[in-house]
Amino acid sequence: TKYVYTFSEGKAEMKDLLGGKGANLAEMTNIGLPVPPGFTITTEACKEFYKAGRNFPAGLEQEVEEKVAWLEQTLGKKFGDPNGPLLVSVRSGAVISMPGMMDTVLNLGLNDQTVIGLAASSGNPRWAYDCYRRFIQMFGNVVLGIEHHRFEAVLEDQKYKAGVKYDNQLTAEDWQEVIKHYKTIVRKETGKDFPQDPMEQLYKAIYAVFNSWENDRAIVYRKIHKIPDDLGTAVNVQAMVFGNMGDDCGTGVAFTRNPSTGEKVLYGEFLTNAQGEDVVAGIRTPQPIAKLEEEMPEVYRQFAQTCALLEKHYKDMQDIEFTIERNKLWMLQTRNGKRTAQAAIRIAVEMVEEGLISKETAIKRVDPMQLNQLLHRRIDPNAKLEVIAKGLPASPGSACGAVVFDADLAEKLGEQGKKVILVGTETTPDDIHGMVASQGILTSRGGMTSHAAVVARGMGKPCVCGCESIKIDYENKQFLVGQLVVKEGDVISIDGSTGQVMLGEVPMIDPELSPEFQKLLTWADEIRTLGVRANADTPEDAAKAREFGAGGIGLTRTEHMFMAQDRLPIVQEMILASTLEEREAALAKLLPMQEGDFYGILKAMAGLPVCIRLLDPPLHEFLPNAEELAVEITRLKLTNSDQSEIKAKEDLLRKVRSLSEFNPMLGHRGCRLGITWPEVYAMQARAIFQATARLVKEGYQVEPEVEIPLVIEVKELAYLRQVVERVAQEVKEATGVDFHYTVGTMIEVPRAALLADEIATQAEFFSFGTNDLTQTTLGFSRDDAEGKFMQPYLEKKILTENPFMVLDRKGVGKLMQWTVENARRVKPELIIGICGEHGGEPSSIEFCHLIGLDYVSCSPYRVPIARLAAAQAKV
Ligand code: ADP
Ligand code: MG
Ligand code: MG
Repeated sequence: TKYVYTFSEGKAEMKDLLGGKGANLAEMTNIGLPVPPGFTITTEACKEFYKAGRNFPAGLEQEVEEKVAWLEQTLGKKFGDPNGPLLVSVRSGAVISMPGMMDTVLNLGLNDQTVIGLAASSGNPRWAYDCYRRFIQMFGNVVLGIEHHRFEAVLEDQKYKAGVKYDNQLTAEDWQEVIKHYKTIVRKETGKDFPQDPMEQLYKAIYAVFNSWENDRAIVYRKIHKIPDDLGTAVNVQAMVFGNMGDDCGTGVAFTRNPSTGEKVLYGEFLTNAQGEDVVAGIRTPQPIAKLEEEMPEVYRQFAQTCALLEKHYKDMQDIEFTIERNKLWMLQTRNGKRTAQAAIRIAVEMVEEGLISKETAIKRVDPMQLNQLLHRRIDPNAKLEVIAKGLPASPGSACGAVVFDADLAEKLGEQGKKVILVGTETTPDDIHGMVASQGILTSRGGMTSHAAVVARGMGKPCVCGCESIKIDYENKQFLVGQLVVKEGDVISIDGSTGQVMLGEVPMIDPELSPEFQKLLTWADEIRTLGVRANADTPEDAAKAREFGAGGIGLTRTEHMFMAQDRLPIVQEMILASTLEEREAALAKLLPMQEGDFYGILKAMAGLPVCIRLLDPPLHEFLPNAEELAVEITRLKLTNSDQSEIKAKEDLLRKVRSLSEFNPMLGHRGCRLGITWPEVYAMQARAIFQATARLVKEGYQVEPEVEIPLVIEVKELAYLRQVVERVAQEVKEATGVDFHYTVGTMIEVPRAALLADEIATQAEFFSFGTNDLTQTTLGFSRDDAEGKFMQPYLEKKILTENPFMVLDRKGVGKLMQWTVENARRVKPELIIGICGEHGGEPSSIEFCHLIGLDYVSCSPYRVPIARLAAAQAKV
């Protein structure tokens, strides 16, 4: 097998083999852009490396040597030659880009001899020694595993001694001093001298890149982003170009469009006289790319052209790394840029309008789950804010939480459900776990492309960075803004869209959809064939759902209405009644209240179907807790309270105990309640129909769907259907209004699914209650599963996803498919939907599309997500 490809041998399509970086370096080389020459060691070689117990596969070294010789010839330079040393970078490059996860070594090939030659031949000793010390530092850290701060301390010391603020103010002599100390550190830490042979340096670096695939940061990143562990990484070896040779040099990163808002402007940052990581490391705060236009107009023009060309070529927004050496532009990387949801939408829509991509492609470009960012609450623009500081708006959205300075503590508090904001001078890949656990991130240094900013945008977390007016005092766990002291644990709010930092909690408002978002969703609606409804229990939720484009309500839970403070006592009266008369008296009190509920919801959804589920949960959910009641009785007895009060409580306790169930999830609930107490369902049906009749009289078009839960047998449905029909008839006669309604059932128990053809004869619609259907099919009670054994099941890869979040296609899905096929065989016009939480999850939505459901139903805030996911399922 061939393990090594020169850039001109590769292309963009070879991503799996060459990694993202290598494939794109090859593509840029082949379209004629200025790319320093180099070669890529394949991911295949990395996989073989692990198979062989972390050893290079046979033949790899020979191929590398051949390619080095080729590179030497191409450039007329030689590894280890003091008169013209070949210097290279060694860069990792996974198939899926993992920013900051793997490490790069620059200036490889320098040693005590070549640095002298380089200093002499360039006439720029300051630069030569700066390169060498960078090399020792990076190699020492990445390859030899010496902690960064050991080197940083030497550097700080030297700057202090020299009386300067920035690295680039140090002289050649300063750097020589630094190098001496660095080499001492290496000898102390590894017991050996810093390796002088360039070939040995190269092999060690390649080995380290392969090894870094399994470092902790990479493993965590893959876990969070669900990247498979067996892809391996490629290694790119590339001739160096230098951005740190003087003021006609520089290095930078740029996006072809603004990755935060999507605006079509070249967007980026650069630093003059700097190398590689300086821009993203937040060492000096970089300058906006527009400055480049002022300082090197010719180079800028060429760069802008190249960006435009790359965007046209890839038909997507690009994230580009470049270096300028003595006024010459070099391209070092391009990839499809990460972007916020807001930017993803705007870019996709505008690219359709520019004729660059199709509507279908635009639909596919936006990750539905990412839309969550936009459907969240944000800071009320009319609120009076007490802004204490302002940084760069690095990742939009608002967050509020307690200040924490340490990633481990952030993780710990986050796990306890506490809201925290991670605050630091900057973040590093070692802080990832803390960032995950935080509501948002605030840094005092670093630009829009700093680690914190890039990672936060990837996670969809609000981030403000480069907030230089805050002075962090780690020792005393506080930060200062002018005179103001903010201590660890104090609550702050940040707005990642404006860069503002506020003290305390600020008022938030509900989200609205931008015009571009609306447009994208309209295209999604044109494409999709799957309907989208919402689960809503109140008129307000129904109105919100409608605003977000819901085509009806797929589930109204009536029990939520029973839980209201003023109703609970009446509901309890109904439950505790010992005779039918008593129960009917309580029901009579509930009737007008329920009628009001249904009136509101049906009116908010006029013209669209509204599916209302009759009472479902176990009754004890409405009753007081038995233990608490027992304690209270004891207390009443001890204080010699009124005997009749004690007796009433004792009666209540007896009743509560008699209603307690061993396994309420499988107990007296759902239509079991309707079968034992038909008067309850009759009352609810009456409330629905009286509301319907009123609305019809008022001129509204309403379409109630009466849903019977937890059916297992067609006879249950037939019996309860009669109850509902009788009430409908009575209401029609009493009001003189004719109205239309349907009756159907939930499919949430395997028996119902298996007997779908029989049950369909008594139903106009089915709705999959996949929360319960998952519980009853797997035999997992959700609360117990998620609390006790789901994690090990996922970790041991027995289940690949939590089936309560992502629909279990293999098991539950099979029952659903069976249901659809058999029910539609006897009743082709049967409406079938889904109302479990899966109805708002993109992969589950895709499955619902595939098996031919009529609609999915999800929470109002997920409706836009579902509309997009339904369209994606189609294209
Ligand atoms: P990452 O994946 O972390 O971005 P890269 O391999 O892209 O790592 O390297 C980081 C930076 O190092 C690049 O953006 C570039 O500035 C610098 N760099 C890499 N290779 C070279 C090279 N051959 N010449 C000059 N600079 C380089
Ligand atoms: Mg890096
Ligand atoms: Mg890079």
